[in-house]
Amino acid sequence: MKTDVLIIGAGGAGLTAAIAAKEAGVDVLVLTKEYPTRSQTCMAQGGINAALGNVSEDSIEDHIQNTLKSAHGLASEEAVRYMCSQAPATIEWLDKIGVCFSRTPDAKIAQRRLGGASAPRACYAQDYTGLKILHTLYDEALKQGVEIKNEKLLLELLKDDNDVVCGALMLDIRSGQKESYFAKSVVLASGGYSRIYDKNSTNSTASTGDGIAVAKRAGAELLHMEFVQFHPTGLKNSSILISESARGEGGYLLNSKGERFTNELAPRDEVSRAIDAEIKKGEEVFLDIRHLGEEFIDEGLPQERKLAKLYENVDPVHDLIPIKPVAHYTMGGISVDNNSQSSLEGLYACGECSNHRVHGANRLGGNSLLEIVVFGREAGENAAKRALDMEAHASASAKDDFLAQEFSNELNFYELRERLGDMLYNKVGIVRREHELQVALEFVQECQQNLPKMGAKDKSLRYNTNLTEFLEFRNVLDVSESVILWALARKESVGAHYVEAK
Ligand SMILES: Cc1cc2nc3c(=O)[nH]c(=O)nc-3n(C[C@H](O)[C@H](O)[C@H](O)COP(=O)(O)OP(=O)(O)OC[C@H]3O[C@@H](n4cnc5c(N)ncnc54)[C@H](O)[C@@H]3O)c2cc1C
Repeated sequence: MKTDVLIIGAGGAGLTAAIAAKEAGVDVLVLTKEYPTRSQTCMAQGGINAALGNVSEDSIEDHIQNTLKSAHGLASEEAVRYMCSQAPATIEWLDKIGVCFSRTPDAKIAQRRLGGASAPRACYAQDYTGLKILHTLYDEALKQGVEIKNEKLLLELLKDDNDVVCGALMLDIRSGQKESYFAKSVVLASGGYSRIYDKNSTNSTASTGDGIAVAKRAGAELLHMEFVQFHPTGLKNSSILISESARGEGGYLLNSKGERFTNELAPRDEVSRAIDAEIKKGEEVFLDIRHLGEEFIDEGLPQERKLAKLYENVDPVHDLIPIKPVAHYTMGGISVDNNSQSSLEGLYACGECSNHRVHGANRLGGNSLLEIVVFGREAGENAAKRALDMEAHASASAKDDFLAQEFSNELNFYELRERLGDMLYNKVGIVRREHELQVALEFVQECQQNLPKMGAKDKSLRYNTNLTEFLEFRNVLDVSESVILWALARKESVGAHYVEAK
């Protein structure tokens, strides 16, 4: 099948790119392994940053400076300036297409303060911000006539004889057949890789870094893969996120003695390390929002109350919420330039799978939803521009024949995936030591060598989740290897990468 712009992933980044490319007048096809409306973007709760100054004074310059500070010198000031200055227009556009932002009493878009921000800057829709944005983008994409095909899993990128990306090889999950799609430009918008930490992550099970692994295998440059953001407040038993908005609205962090031990609104890396240190001292750590009162919690944090009741069996109106830091956001990704173009000709990337140099060593809460819309638009427009300039489609056949191999099924990859998740959490997590990184690297590389001894036991074609999970595990290994190698190469502590000598 042929199209002008092929987009892999239908989260906030992919759908924004699709809308922008369609508006530029080209044919657009979006392929996604899950249903668009379930993409991880729907889990975002706290808000999307823009210096609107609706509830107290704020400025774009303050937004820029807060973002640069949190990035610890590893962001591009030009890219940060661009993103922050585009933020007010981005919110205006989202508002215009129908995102139902919460309002102030005088009907302005409501804003709240998230960690590391000098002002209440995050625009929100209760604590369903990502859900409302994603579903509105989906409606808009359909309205614009964007074609979206679900349950298509990216296997590999296709490259022509000149090494230019010209399409993608996909697995149709429904039929089990491989399919080739050709395009004049390809945009990867396949999300982040926090699920390499398996259950120790707030993320959707789909966040296995597939697009990054596939781009890496095709020779694309990656950037800053060592930077993984650990969110301070995952529920202790399930890792489900209790949004930063709970602390933004005035929640406290307490240890088992009932003492506050850190500045709750410091950047996430600092708060996570403070909690980790308490846990290592044998303390339990809790989030306390009881003092905010039932009425306030039900109005401003309804989802948090539901999640705590459902998954931790505590009611935050009356009880402390047991928490621990968990992998939440991945700053690393496919390296792209100011046009969202990767190091491979024909390949663009946007959203959490990309590295647009705006988060550096630590992302500010509320800046990711902003990034996916600002740079999603850029990627879609630039991919469309390239497609309009090209006369003919190239074609190619897949070089990677991973699925054609024999798999002996001697080893259970599910067990290995769980072990890997715990190993990464403990050895490639909040505090890192060189010898522990080495142990994790050896484990990953041994698993990679042993892939032929694994494989899917289920040989059926239709809806073979055993096979798709095996393919994801291969991607998890490739991405984990990159994370560890980047972590080993960075000897100093910076942002989310914190090194201890022993
Ligand atoms: C619980 C939670 C709360 C958050 N809260 C906030 C917040 O308040 N503010 C903020 O700014 N950020 C927040 N974030 C981060 C933010 O939501 C994400 O960074 C952002 O939504 C990522 O969007 P995306 O479009 O890049 O990826 P996603 O939304 O993850 O979409 C990825 C898409 O790619 C598809 N895909 C993946 N692999 C393949 C494959 N192999 N083949 C085909 N398709 C594939 C998926 O099906 C999906 O459609 C939060 C994250 C989480 C987990």
